Order: sequence, then structure tokens, then C-alpha cells
Amino acid sequence: MPRIVLALNAGSSSLKFSATTVGEEGQSSLLLKGEIEDIGSAPHFVLKDAQGTVLAERRWTDSETPMQPLLEEVAARVREHLTGDELTAIGHRVVHGGPDHMAPERVTPALIASLEKLTPIAPLHIPHNLALIRSMMKLCPDVPQVACFDTAFHRTMPAVARRFALPTVYEAAGVRRYGFHGLSYEYIARKLETVAPHLAKGQVIVAHLGNGASLCALQAGQSLDTTMGFSPLDGLVMGTRCGALDPAIVLYLENQFGLSVDAVRHLLYRESGLLALSGGVANDMRTLLASAEPKAHEAVEIFVHVLARQAGGLIASLQGLDGFVFTAGIGEHASEIRAMVCGKLAWLGVKIDPQANLRHADVISTPDSAVEVRVIPTDEDAMIVRHTLAVLGDG
Ligand code: ADP
Repeated sequence: MPRIVLALNAGSSSLKFSATTVGEEGQSSLLLKGEIEDIGSAPHFVLKDAQGTVLAERRWTDSETPMQPLLEEVAARVREHLTGDELTAIGHRVVHGGPDHMAPERVTPALIASLEKLTPIAPLHIPHNLALIRSMMKLCPDVPQVACFDTAFHRTMPAVARRFALPTVYEAAGVRRYGFHGLSYEYIARKLETVAPHLAKGQVIVAHLGNGASLCALQAGQSLDTTMGFSPLDGLVMGTRCGALDPAIVLYLENQFGLSVDAVRHLLYRESGLLALSGGVANDMRTLLASAEPKAHEAVEIFVHVLARQAGGLIASLQGLDGFVFTAGIGEHASEIRAMVCGKLAWLGVKIDPQANLRHADVISTPDSAVEVRVIPTDEDAMIVRHTLAVLGDG
């Protein structure tokens, strides 16, 4: 019997989902995908088939619309289009697993209780993920759920990469580098095994550049170091997140500007990054690249500068570099950004073929480049499906 897995990927104001059918031999094909955007303001739901044809769409005008009716709509429409087949399992991307959850796990009351205790470590993400898990339990009580942690892939990072220079009491309380975008990095690491086995065994930087963005140093397919830290706020400049910041700035904002902890959190997560650097032009890279505003251009330059600086750190962690992989929205589609980043790495002997780059070719470096540069579309949902079936003993 084919199995159908619903993969759920909850962001701070959006929910992306997909339904995949997996056959007896493990062959999978996408059935449905969709999204609810702008949860909390004017929710917009769209459901598409694998070819991208819109199957259902709905807008809610009431900004107060709670999560449950939105999910009921998703579940009802998904079931309608599964043509009689029933869901086998639901897999969630859970942003933070804390120190204790380093592999995908079946959702049980004990797991929920353990994740609840993590709320202070990830106050923006854990309540969100738990609300979704509970809602799906109500909607589909007989369907098992699996939590796939975005931090888990980085469990292989050595202590030197994991520790912050703070007293050990805080380390013991969970203050350490976790790293994120793990499902994406794991997908790329597995993909390299088939498309570039020489890189799968080597030293590679993967640049996951979406609204959130980070770099991961892969040593033989395992995470050795990464730019995000205790939270997904650290590292690169992002759409609205600041990236790496002198911690004294937080103290200064609180003391001199009288900002509360909540106000600082809002500033650093929602009002910083590309949005702030561009003077409010956009948090979206495509809009910035198309803008004639000097500040938009400046924002892009700073994004690339910080990326190149952080890549330098990871190259030192790796002690060499064989490959560089671009992925996620900006990495897969913004040839200008790839060209700028590779330009900053020219000192390493990185050379790209401008035509291949414009075509978003699989390999965009020249044959004589010292580092092989690739573009690989990521697929976090594929990892969620794989882990979900494996945890349920059905993989
Ligand atoms: P998320 O982190 O929300 O999953 P995505 O991976 O979809 O985000 O990436 C979103 C980012 O990708 C946005 O900054 C968007 O502008 C950028 N992007 C998407 N397509 C293009 C494009 N053709 N050119 C430049 N940037 C693009």
C-alpha cells in the first residue's frame, strides 16, 4: 500500500505543507503542496498539485482568525484531494530540539512535555510548533506524528565549535551553539553523495540563503561548524534578522534607549537585517536587486560582505575547501548574489562561468576553479518524509 505523509513546516507567520506518496520500494512523488501566509494579519491559503496548478484558495479578512479554523481548512482540502487515500503520518519541522533532542522522534505526551520545557530557550518557535502539533492531534487523532528537529543535524559539531566563552553553568543550562537549517543541510549532504561523490567526502560550505540564512561547514557530509548559534538570529544578515552582533549593543539598547527585552527581541528579529539596511525598501532580496535605491544596493553589499567574512571563518574551521553549494530562495535563484559571493572568494581560486551562473546550472564554476561551486535546490520536506517513515519503522 502506498503511504501518504503530510510534511508541515511552520514559520513565524506562515505554514508550508506538502503531501507525498511513498511506494513499496521507497519511491516517492509529491501529490499536493500549499501554504497559509500572513497568519495573524490577513491569512491566505492556497493548495496546489505537483505541477503547481491551484486546487483551492481562500482568504480570511479577520486578522483575529485563530489557528484552528485555518488548519481545519487545510486538513479538509488536503483530504478532499487525496482521492480516498488516508494519511499515514504527519511529519513536522521543529525548529529547536534543545540539548536533548538530537534525532527525529515520534510525538508522545512525554515529548510534548519535554519540548514545553524548552520554551525559554526558543520562545518564538517552540510554542508555535507545539500549537500545530496539538491542533493536528485534534484534527487527525489516529495519524501518528513525528518531530524532525532543525538542530539535530549539527549534533556532530565538536565542542570547540559548540561552546560559547561563558561560565560553564550557562553551558550546562543549554547555552551553546545549536545551529539550524539542519533538514536542508542534511538533504544537500545526501544529495552530494549521488551528484558529486567527491564533494560528499570532502570539505564543503553550504549556503542556505532564504529569508533566514546560514552557512554550514560539511566535513565528509557531517556538520563541523555553522554560522547560526543559540538561536536562528546569529550569523548572516537575513531578511529582517540582524545576524551576528556585538552583544554589548543589546545592553546599550536596553540602557540608553530604554528598550524592554520584548522590544529588543522584536527589533532584532523583525526590524533588522536587509529591511533595516535598505532603509525600509524591502526584506526581500528580489525586490532589493530590482530597486534603484542606493540603500537597497548598500544592503545587498553588506549581505555579501558578512557572508564572505563568515565563510572565511568556516574555511578556517574546515582547514580547506573543495566545494561551495548555494541553496534556498536566494541561493537557487539570485545569480547576482552568487556572482558577488564568488567574487569575494576569488582569492581562494574560485572562478565561475558567468553563463552557467545565469542559467542556474548545476555546476557554475569553471573546470580550472580551485573550488567546485554548485547550485542545488533544497527539499526540507523530502527529509521530513524520510525521517517520519523511518521513525515509524516504515522507511
Ligand atoms: P524561506 O526562508 O521563507 O523558506 P525562501 O527560501 O523561499 O525563504 O527564500 C526567500 C528569499 O529568496 C527572498 O529574499 C526572495 O526575494 C529570494 N528570491 C526568490 N526568488 C528570487 C529571485 N529570482 N531573485 C532573487 N531573489 C529571489
